Formats: sequence, structure tokens, C-alpha cells
Amino acid sequence: MLNIAKIRNGLVIDHIRAGLGIRIFNWLGLDKAKAPVAFIVNAPSKEMGTKDMLKIDETIAIDYALLGFIDHNITVNVIENEVITEKIHMTLPERVENVLVCKNPRCITQVEKSAPQVFVLSDRAKGVYRCEYCDEARGEIDLR
Ligand SMILES: [Zn+2]
Repeated sequence: MLNIAKIRNGLVIDHIRAGLGIRIFNWLGLDKAKAPVAFIVNAPSKEMGTKDMLKIDETIAIDYALLGFIDHNITVNVIENEVITEKIHMTLPERVENVLVCKNPRCITQVEKSAPQVFVLSDRAKGVYRCEYCDEARGEIDLR
């Protein structure tokens, strides 16, 4: 078993699809974190085969809607005094703004560059998003 220092007060981001952990690490800006951070890749998982995990010994602010969009199978454990006080389950958000970019050349967002890029969940089971303006299916994920 892996020997990882216990989190006192912070977050454990668990069940990250293997290989995606580095993107979430970067998205959260954890390279600049002051608190101890453990980044585990390819941890064995009964349900998933392998998974990535992030343990942060600090309760940082996370946009859970966006995290759910990135990977809706993630769970976040909130740790207080070394005890899990909350388990947060991600879901696909109903809409995302300025995350997906519409690729339809005739879309209003291609002309009106200041218009927000709004995508709405149209098929939860398949995870399909459509542009609110032109109905184009999901574009490229552009994490910022
Ligand atoms: Zn569009």
C-alpha cells in the first residue's frame, strides 16, 4: 500500500480517471500551492482499474461545476481534523460558460467575439453538450 502523509484539514480528490490527474493539478494551480500536496497516479482501484488522486492539505476553493464537467466520476472528500466530514459527488453541470468553444463557422459566437460561449447539456447519459446559439455539438475543451 502507498504510504501517504495524512491530510489534517483539506481535500482529497478521488476517482480521477487515470491520466487526467495532471490536467486537474495544473487547472487548480497546485504547482504554486504552499500546502503539502500529494499527487498519486495509477493507484489501484476496484471499480476503475487505475485512478489518479490528489491530496491537498488545505481547503482550497474549487469550481465543482467545472470539475464535474471535466470528470463527473470524481468524488471530493473534505477532511477536518483528519476525519472525512463531507463527500462531494460530481455531476455534469446543466450549462458551462466559456469552457467549450463553438467550431461552427456560421455561429454568432464566431462573429460576436465578445459573446460568451454557452453550452447546454443535451444528453446526460452520453455527456453531450450543445451550443446555446446554434445547437452545434460540443467543441474542444479549453481549460483555463
Ligand atoms: Zn455555436
